[in-house]
Formats: sequence, C-alpha cells, structure tokens
Amino acid sequence: MKGAHHAYHAGKREEAELDVIVVGSGAGGATAAVKLARAGLRVGIVEAGAWRAPQDYPSSAYGSMRDLMDAWGATMATGRAFWPIVQARCVGGTTVINSAICVRTPADVFARWERETGISAKDMGSRIWAHEDALATELSVSDSGQVVGLGRSSRLAMKGATALGVPSEHTHRYAKDCAGSGQCLQGCHEGKKQSLNVTFVPEVLERGGEVYSCAPVSDVIFEGKRAVGVRGRYLHPQTREKGAHFTLRAKLGVVVAASVTKSCELLRRSGVKNKMLGEGFRSHPGTGVFGVYDEPVDMNLGTTQGWASIAYRDNPGLKLETLSIPPELVASRLSGGGLELMERLSEYRHLAMWCHAVRAESVGRISHGLLGTQIHYTLDKADMERFRRGMWLLAQMHVAAGAKAVIPGIAGFSFKLEANEIDQLLDAPLDPRHYVAVLSHLFGGCVMGSDPRRSVVDGSGRVHGYEGLVVADASVIPTNLGVNPQHTIMGLASVFADDFAART
Ligand SMILES: Cc1cc2nc3c(=O)[nH]c(=O)nc-3n(C[C@H](O)[C@H](O)[C@H](O)COP(=O)(O)OP(=O)(O)OC[C@H]3O[C@@H](n4cnc5c(N)ncnc54)[C@H](O)[C@@H]3O)c2cc1C
Ligand code: SF4
Repeated sequence: MKGAHHAYHAGKREEAELDVIVVGSGAGGATAAVKLARAGLRVGIVEAGAWRAPQDYPSSAYGSMRDLMDAWGATMATGRAFWPIVQARCVGGTTVINSAICVRTPADVFARWERETGISAKDMGSRIWAHEDALATELSVSDSGQVVGLGRSSRLAMKGATALGVPSEHTHRYAKDCAGSGQCLQGCHEGKKQSLNVTFVPEVLERGGEVYSCAPVSDVIFEGKRAVGVRGRYLHPQTREKGAHFTLRAKLGVVVAASVTKSCELLRRSGVKNKMLGEGFRSHPGTGVFGVYDEPVDMNLGTTQGWASIAYRDNPGLKLETLSIPPELVASRLSGGGLELMERLSEYRHLAMWCHAVRAESVGRISHGLLGTQIHYTLDKADMERFRRGMWLLAQMHVAAGAKAVIPGIAGFSFKLEANEIDQLLDAPLDPRHYVAVLSHLFGGCVMGSDPRRSVVDGSGRVHGYEGLVVADASVIPTNLGVNPQHTIMGLASVFADDFAART
C-alpha cells in the first residue's frame, strides 16, 4: 500500500494536507474517492465508523446493529408512525450491510429530474449510464440465478410470479461467486460481496490516498466561501471514548458523502446557508409478508435477495423482492410473546419472507432539534394505498406459489390469513401506525437542481454559492427512483468526481 490507514488513537492532534478530502466512505464517498484517485489526486477518506475485514463481521443481526449500523439501527422517521431508518456506520458505508442488488437507473428518472430540477436528462443520463456499465463490470455484477445457492424462497417467488403472469427476474448483484449464505445484512464473511470497503477503499490506499476511520467529521473548514478542509475528533467504535483531534486540509476541495440523514446536518453545522438544506427527504418504505408452506423453505439458505419484480414500478408504484432474514428478526416480526411466540417461531423453516419497496411520493424533511437529527416523514393516503396493495400482491404470489397461508404482520388484523382469505388485505387499515415498515432507500436533504433557490447543489454536485465544496451521495437525489439506489448513487458520484477533476 502506498497510502496509510489511520484508526482511532488518543495521542496528539493529527494534521495533514491532501488534494481532496472525502467525508464518508459509502456508495457515494468511496466511488467519488476512487475516481478522484484514478485522476491522479491525493485523496483522504474520512469515515466515522471502523474498518472491518470480512472475518471480523458479526454473525448475528444484533451484532450487525452493534458493530456496523449507525445508532444501532435505531434512527427513526417520526410522523404518524415511527419507522426505523437503517444506515451503516463503517468503512464502506451501507454497501457493507446491503443486499448488493444492482439496477441501472431507469430512463424516466432522468426525464423527471429534467422536468423538476432543470438538469439536462440527455447529458446526465448518458454520462451516468456509461459509468454504471463500467461499475457493473468492475464490481463483478452477476445474475443471482447463476449462483450455486439461489435458495428455495427465490425459486418459489419465481414460480408464483410465473403462475400469475407477472414479469420478474433473478436479481443482479455486486457479488463474485456468491455462496448463497444469506448473510448480506450482517456483512459478507465469505468476501464475495463487492462492498466498497473491500474494493474501492483499498484501491484509494494503493493509489497513495489516506484513510481515516473512527473519525467523525464535526465540521468543514472554510476560508471565506471556499472549503479548505475538515476537522473532528476520533471516536472509539466500542467504548465511544473521544480520542485525538484531527485537522485535515484540502488543497482543492472537500467532497461530502455522509449519507441522506448526515450530509445536510454536517453542512448546516459548518455554517452553510441554504434554506433547502434538509428538504426533499424521500424514501422507499417497505415491509414483508411471510408465506407459510407445507415443505420447509429454509429461507436463510440462499442468496439474501435473489428474486425481484419491477412489474408494478409505475402502477401502483412498487418493487417486489425476496428477502432472507435471520430467526431473531423473524421473531421481531411475529407478534406475541412466551409460548405463543415460541409456537409461531416453530414454523420458521416453513416461512418465506417476500417484501416490497414502495415508490412513495410523500416528502419529508430533516431538521436538527434538541434531540439531535429528526426526520419528519409520514406517508399520505395515496402512498398507504400503494403500501397496502403491495402486501396483497405479495400474498397473491405466495398463494400462487403454493403457500397454505400468509402472515402479513399488521397490528389489529388477523395474524394469519388462509389462502382463500387474502383479499381481506384490500381492506386493511390505511393508518401507518398499524404497519412495521423499514426505510432503507433514502433520498434528499441536499437536492440537486439548477435553481439555487430550490436546490442545494448543481448538476456537478457543487454547493450553490460556495467554492471547492461538493456533495456526492444519495442526499442529492431529488426524486424517488422506484429501484434500488446504489448504482444511481455511484453513477452520480462518478459524474461529480469527473467534473471536479476536470476543474483542477
Ligand atoms: C439493509 C439495506 C439493504 C439495502 N440493499 C440495497 C441493495 O441491495 N441495492 C441497492 O442499490 N441499495 C441497497 N440499499 C441502499 C444503499 O445501500 C444506500 O442507498 C447507499 O449505500 C447510500 O449511499 P450513501 O453514500 O448516500 O450513504 P452510505 O452508504 O450510508 O455512506 C455514508 C457514510 O458516511 C459516514 N458518515 C456519516 N457521517 C459522517 C461524518 N460526520 N464524518 C465521517 N463519516 C461520516 C457513515 O458512517 C457512512 O459510512 C440497502 C440499504 C439497507 C439499509
Ligand atoms: S448471500 Fe452470502 S455469500 Fe452471497 S454475497 Fe451475501 S453474504 Fe456473501
């Protein structure tokens, strides 16, 4: 390695000067960093979380929340319901704990960006697609259907969809020879998933860059309107003890890629003035429906998410997927306690979890109050109708695949519906408080647009009104996508990095 990795220490203040500082090492940050390093710049990646090797990943969902997730996975969107927001806090960011599904940005997304933000669809679309195609090759994107362990749950989903005439496919994933261990959400111990902590971040070091882990940035340093560096203090990943202070100067500029919930807060804390900071929060809220099968499904044997359908992306606005979750998370989804919960859990081997991600149009905001960062977000009636319909579609597919019953997990509703009862789901409550949903695909907070009064960054990721300051993560995305976002985020970060390098 030509560069160095600096981890937590409590010694004396650390100071350094690099060409560019990138804050955050997730989908956006690590991609921007590697592109800038390939352009010949000396890059410093500064990441709040620790850098773990695959053999040091936890094996349980509890361990994943403790070691890999931000705030133990307990950040909540607060509105009519409290729904958890899941993001990682580690080198590689959320790519370490995600399911690695890769989807090229659909053309209609660029057309909508042009209509709503003034960013040229032709220009942006062709540049992002060119990067996405190259990224898919670099990160060994492969068809889940060709791996050894696709898993019975995904095969059943394919059967159900085919029986109903619903177009669907095996997922394409950033995984090299996936062994089908169903452990993506805990990090891939086998080292098969091409998360960015095992790909782009080491490449930045190889190219002479520096990586600072356990190093949350407190603020961006400015000289006038020009970003010239960052500062912060190391934080021990287990004890939370504060360590040495660091000040890292950037000769050419700072790229902020700290995630949807964190980038806008970091800019605000650093004194950036823009009334759109924190606005335009969107997501793809999702939930799962269990199918109960006579034969064992063993959903944890097989690729974590091996099957998907975008047949309903436009109408009603959903993506459907399979998802393997470990027993401890299944327990959290089956209501009840004591003997009742034990009895329900005894069916674990016969359950298949399929889920949806709603292409929600509701918009929220991220603010900072006495309790820290707050995300205000409530699905409106139209989104809740999409949400409910998606659950019915999943139930239909389970039944078509041979399930004898489904478990929808709606509070105040039947625990289990027999195959001939699933239409009851069409009348399930529309109040979000009845549902257990998770927000894992997030957008906004520093939205992109050509009008500085309605956006935070321009079409090159530059913060309006400032110099040497770029945002390159999911926070710049101004609309929902209706598909998994990592490929779009990496494509955008690549475009922004190219533009940054061209200006130097
Ligand atoms: C369980 C789960 C499954 C998913 N599955 C998929 C999938 O299969 N396919 C897909 O396309 N998408 C998936 N996603 C979504 C995808 O992973 C995210 O959208 C994407 O990683 C977001 O990229 P980002 O760069 O905006 O943020 P992140 O990848 O979250 O990276 C942000 C990084 O910034 C760091 N940071 C924050 N604040 C600071 C600070 N002050 N100083 C320094 N560092 C800081 C964080 O620790 C983090 O490492 C999934 C998400 C989850 C939660
Ligand atoms: S399913 Fe298992 S082997 Fe495949 S990428 Fe995920 S964790 Fe790795």
